[in-house]
Amino acid sequence: MKKHNFYAGPSILPQYTIENTAKALIDFAGMGLSLMEVSHRSKQFIAVVEEAQSLFKELLNIPEGYSVIFLGGGASLQFSMIPFNLLAKKAAYLNTGEWARKSIKEAKGFGEVVVVASSEDKNFNYIPRGFEIPTDADYFHITTNNTIFGTEILHQIESPIPLVADMSSDIFSRVIDVSKYALIYGGAQKNLAPAGVTFVIIKNDILGKVDRKIPTMLNYKTHIEKESMFNTPPVVPIYAALQTLKWLKNMGGIAEMEKINIRKADLLYNEIDRNPLFRATVPAKEDRSRMNVCFVMTEAFVQYEKEFDAFASSRGMVGLQGHRDVGGFRASIYNALPYESVEALVSVMQEFENMKK
Ligand SMILES: *Cc1c(COP(=O)(O)O)cnc(C)c1O
Repeated sequence: MKKHNFYAGPSILPQYTIENTAKALIDFAGMGLSLMEVSHRSKQFIAVVEEAQSLFKELLNIPEGYSVIFLGGGASLQFSMIPFNLLAKKAAYLNTGEWARKSIKEAKGFGEVVVVASSEDKNFNYIPRGFEIPTDADYFHITTNNTIFGTEILHQIESPIPLVADMSSDIFSRVIDVSKYALIYGGAQKNLAPAGVTFVIIKNDILGKVDRKIPTMLNYKTHIEKESMFNTPPVVPIYAALQTLKWLKNMGGIAEMEKINIRKADLLYNEIDRNPLFRATVPAKEDRSRMNVCFVMTEAFVQYEKEFDAFASSRGMVGLQGHRDVGGFRASIYNALPYESVEALVSVMQEFENMKK
C-alpha cells in the first residue's frame, strides 16, 4: 500500500533526493567509491559543497555580502551560537512556541534578553502582532514556522535592527526577501535533507561586533573563511541537500513550490473547517502554517480520536499524531509531500465523517 508520510521531522524527502543519495552511497561521482568513504577535501566533494552553496544563493535570490555555510549541531546549536557571535549587550526575541522558548533560554546566558511579545497565553495558537522592537538591541530573533503549534509568520516583519530567523521548517516553502534578514538558519531535516546538517545564511557585516572570545568551532567567521571545511562537514546530508536543491530548481523554483504549498494547505484547512468532526487549533487563518497543519476532533466526537488515527493508519497515513503539547493531529505537508497525499487525507476524513454522523 502507498504510504502517505506526514511526519513532522525527520520527514518526507523527494524521491529524487533519496534515489540519487542511495546511488552515491554505492558509487559517488564515478569514483568507484562510496560517498561515505571519500575525503571531504576531494575535488568531487568540494564541487558538491560549492554547487549546494550556489543553488542556495540562486533559489533564494541571496544578495551580495551574504555567506552560506553548512554546520553540524542542528538548529539547537544555533540557539547558543547566535548570541555567542551577535549578542553584545541586549537581544530581542519573539516567543511563538517551544523552539522560540528554547532559543530565548540559551540567549539569556549571554546578556539581556527582551521578549517583545509572546503567544504563550493561548498555548501558542496565534502570532503576536503590534509589538515594538527595541532599537537599542543587537538583533531581533523570530521563528518563522512553529512546527509544534502550527503557526507561521507569513507576513514580512520589518525590523529596525538585524533580523534573525529560525526557518528550520519553512525554508524553501515560500518566497522570502533575504535582504530583510541578517541571519537565517535551520536544521535540514524538515524540508531539505536527512538530519545532520544545519544551514546558516549570514550577512557578513554583522560579525565582529562582540568582544568576548568565541571558541573556534562556534565562531561563524571560522566556517565562512574555511567555506564549511574547517572540520569534516556532514558529507552525506550535504550531498542529499544538493539533490533536494536540484529537485526544487527542476520544479520551477520557490515561487512554483509556494503555489503548490498554498493549494495543499487550502485543501486541507478547508476540509478541517467544513468537516463537523474536526477543528483547526489555530483559529486565525492568516496565522495558520502551510507546513504543519494542527487539528483536533470537536467536542462531540473527541472519543473517536484513537479510532480515527487507526483508520487513517489503515489507509497508509503515517506520522499524523499531534505533538504532546497540542494533542490531536498534525499533518506535516512539507515541499516533498505530493498533493495526492493531502487529497488522500481529505478522503479519509470524509469517509470517517460518513461513518460517524
Ligand atoms: C525541528 C526544529 C528545531 C530543532 O532542530 P534540531 O536540528 O533538532 O536542533 C528548531 N527550530 C524549529 C523551528 C524546528 O522545527
